[in-house]
This record gives sequence, C-alpha cells and structure tokens, in this order.
Amino acid sequence: MNRQLPSSSQLFVISATLAVAGCASAPRTEAPAPTVAPETTTEWAGMPSPAAMAVVDATLWMQTSAEYAAMSRQIWTLAIRQLPDALADTTWSAALEQPEGSGSLPPAVIVDVDETMLDNAPYAARLVERDEPFTEASWAVWVEESKARPVPGALEFVRAARELGIEVFYVTNRLANLEQATRRNLDAMGFPPGDADDVYLMLEEREEWGSDKTSRREWVAERYRVLMLAGDDLNDFLAARGLNVEARSEIVRRHADEWGNRWIVLANPTYGSWESAILDGLESRSPAAVGRRKLESLQPRWN
Ligand SMILES: [Mg+2]
Repeated sequence: MNRQLPSSSQLFVISATLAVAGCASAPRTEAPAPTVAPETTTEWAGMPSPAAMAVVDATLWMQTSAEYAAMSRQIWTLAIRQLPDALADTTWSAALEQPEGSGSLPPAVIVDVDETMLDNAPYAARLVERDEPFTEASWAVWVEESKARPVPGALEFVRAARELGIEVFYVTNRLANLEQATRRNLDAMGFPPGDADDVYLMLEEREEWGSDKTSRREWVAERYRVLMLAGDDLNDFLAARGLNVEARSEIVRRHADEWGNRWIVLANPTYGSWESAILDGLESRSPAAVGRRKLESLQPRWN
C-alpha cells in the first residue's frame, strides 16, 4: 500500500456531516424544521465518525460492485493482448528510465502490488468498522495474514506474462520487513514465481530505494527491457510526488499515448496521491479541516 492511507482515513462523508450539521443548526421557530431532523441524530448514533465513514462508498464499490470487478478484468485483458506486440518490438519500452540500446535485454514488466495485484479492501473495511485511522501497525497485521485476494484479472496477466518468458517485478511501497508476507500472499493466490533471484522490490530494501519508485524502475531498466508499467497511482509510472491537481492532469495529457499501451492504470478511489494533491499538506490536520478542503475542491461546473 502506498502509505497515504492515513489521509484517506480523514476523508469526509459529506452526507453524514451535512446530516449532523444540518440537525445541529436547524431553525427553531421561523421555518418548519425538516421532519427528518430529530430522527437523523438518533439514526446516526453509534455510527463511525465522519472520518471513518468517508471511505465507505469507495470501499463498497471495490468490494461489491460488479462494475469494479468487470473494469479491472477488462484492463488486464487488454494488457494481456498487448504483450506479444510489446515483446516483438525491441524498441518498445514503458520506462522513462530505460537506457538507450536496451533492445537486447530480457523482457520484464513492472507491477505495483496494492490495489494493482492484491485487493486490500477488507483492510479498509476494518478501519471503518473499528473507527480507526490507518496505522503501520494495523497494516502490518493485515499484510502478515497474507490473505489479500488478487485484483480481478491480475493473476491472469502475470501468468500470461510468465508464459511468454517475461519477468514480473513487484515494485511496492510495502516496507522491506513485509517482503516475506507479501511473497507468501502472492504465492498462496497462485502468482507464478519469477526467474530472477528477487522480484519483490520493497520500500527501503536498499538504502536508495525510497518511496519514489524511480530508483527501482532504474534498477530494473538497467537489466531488462520494461514492456509495461502497471499501478493504481501516478507515482507507479513516473515521479509525481508533491504535484498539485493541475500538474498531475498535465502529466496525463503529456503522456496520452502511454495509457492503455505501455502504462496500465487501475482504479483506486480509497486512497492515493490523488488525495494528497487535494490536501496539499493538510493530511495531519483535523478531519474537519480535511473535509473543508475537499468540499472546496469540488467543481460544480467546468472551469
Ligand atoms: Mg498501489
């Protein structure tokens, strides 16, 4: 998981908050009070805090919607279809870090793990249930269970790549001390092993492997021709940390030809750098401040 979940736990449920706030400020005499107002307070009693409730819709969409499962499968099916062309064209590379003259290097793909290969929605559901923010400790407990299921279609993609002799590198911001648990999880779900000594390139596994994945992409690109990059976060494709919403959109436009060809992006509405871009350093502030920023970021009309 890229470690930006703390901020998502501070997401704001507009409906919940408006319901409660609306109740608190309901006019007493002038206009007739909404008939639902008194009941609303009672109905919300015992519910998780707005901060915890904030990820409910996103989590439910990933856990229950046929559309999420179908969409993920569709993405991976299209990616599988690209593999033979990518393999045959020795000038093809997905990595901006790929050195010139890499045509004779063995082929590889680089995939992220969380919400790309493995679906951690049950962990997000636990946080809501317990009304807790993300912590490294609870995350480690979840990872150590090694029970995350594959994102629909991801297993088929890795199998197809391996059958074509393509190495699969897992470049993840899970910490190095979670490598064995991660490997155990992928093995248990049927992900085929790699040929290389270590295909799990974890955060801080080497001193220079920071949360910016560029140095790990470089490491792979020096040794393999990278056919595809796959992830659920812009930083899985290039260094985009700290950029605002507009700068991130510009990156998507600038690299328009990559999407669906060499860069394969999965949906993750539950957390990610998209949220940090909105919050711009506000993550550690109160849930109310976070909620206000998010409300301000809504766009009721095209600019
Ligand atoms: Mg991810």
